[in-house]
Amino acid sequence: MVDLPRVDTPDRGGGLSWSATGSTKGRHGALRLDLAVDGEVVLTCQRCLGPMTKPLQLRSRFLIAKDEDAAEALDQDDDYDVVVGSEAFETDTLIEDEVLLALPIAPRHAVCPAGAGSVAPSTKPSPFAALAGWKTTAGNHDGGGDGER
Ligand SMILES: [Zn+2]
Repeated sequence: MVDLPRVDTPDRGGGLSWSATGSTKGRHGALRLDLAVDGEVVLTCQRCLGPMTKPLQLRSRFLIAKDEDAAEALDQDDDYDVVVGSEAFETDTLIEDEVLLALPIAPRHAVCPAGAGSVAPSTKPSPFAALAGWKTTAGNHDGGGDGER
């Protein structure tokens, strides 16, 4: 399982599975990487601010160039995204970037679930109303509540 600290998943990364198939058949000595990510992420609905689960299915292809020069030579290939990598290439970071790019900027439920923040607050008894009633009662017992103003 992949750990994506910037992506909220149902099970801290366990909601996503991924596979990366690499080969060295790319041009200019680049490593070719076929990336597949499947699973679901948890987003915040921008309408009701409730959690929403979004299934995710990504297919990305990369050419990992060994340096900037190699990357420039490779950049004409439209089928692949060219990234400059090294032996310490961070697959997790690459996956996370792809996932973040695939996520909607303003996610919304197709239909917001009932009671997920869209319910008018006036339908619920306010704790402050109860508190106000308590203060009034206390003032009556003191008999001098008005003098404090
Ligand atoms: Zn919603």
